[in-house]
Amino acid sequence: MRVKFLGVGEAFDERLPNTSIWVRDEEEGGGRRSVLLDCGFTAPPRFWASCADPDELQAIWISHFHGDHFFGIPALLTRFWESGRRKPLVVAGQEGVGTVVSQAIRLAYSSVMDKFGFELQFLDIEPGNTVEAAGFTWSAAESGHPQRNLALRLARGGKSLFYGGDGPPTDQTLKIAHGCDLVIHEAFSVEQKYPSHGSMRGAIDFASNAGAKALAFVHIQRDERRERRDEINWLIEKIKDMRVFMPEPDEEFEL
Ligand SMILES: [Zn+2]
Ligand SMILES: [Zn+2]
Repeated sequence: MRVKFLGVGEAFDERLPNTSIWVRDEEEGGGRRSVLLDCGFTAPPRFWASCADPDELQAIWISHFHGDHFFGIPALLTRFWESGRRKPLVVAGQEGVGTVVSQAIRLAYSSVMDKFGFELQFLDIEPGNTVEAAGFTWSAAESGHPQRNLALRLARGGKSLFYGGDGPPTDQTLKIAHGCDLVIHEAFSVEQKYPSHGSMRGAIDFASNAGAKALAFVHIQRDERRERRDEINWLIEKIKDMRVFMPEPDEEFEL
């Protein structure tokens, strides 16, 4: 399984695109499996820059309904339509994802959904259910974000990753992160500072308790990321039993 960090930013960073992660896996016989994790308002151009094939993506996961996590969907899908997409597309998330995403697309381009030449398949994935879709095994758990957010465990071929979306960890998110090869966690601040968001120190404890092999920090508050770089590097270098990193846009990671 291969991960590309298309965007690693928070909601309103003028330099970094919204956190959005493209996960791919090769199938026997050369086919590819491909899922996008979150698609905020600044994410679609990053996807287009990495992938010219309108049929490549099989599923999109929406962690929660904040604009920096799903307002890119109208643009992404409308360009798929423009480019002649034919294959069905799964849009997965918490209960109600179909209603909310359809509303967003209609607000942006009122009648485009009626013209799509591909089927949109909305898929509710709630905590407690393990779902097979697009060639991956999906399970979800609720984090501590004020806007209800589901963290995701995505597994395939003996490899697994955890993507937290927004919000500090919970006992439930720890359960689904257990033994993952890669934990991708928001780390809004270095120390825990905002009740609605996680921190780097919290994410390190979380990934270490989960027994993860690697931890990537994303969605870091813009000033914190720029002004505390030395402290962050120092914090990362101290961790010896797990690979910890702060990816740049377009950075890739092989699980
Ligand atoms: Zn966010
Ligand atoms: Zn949020």
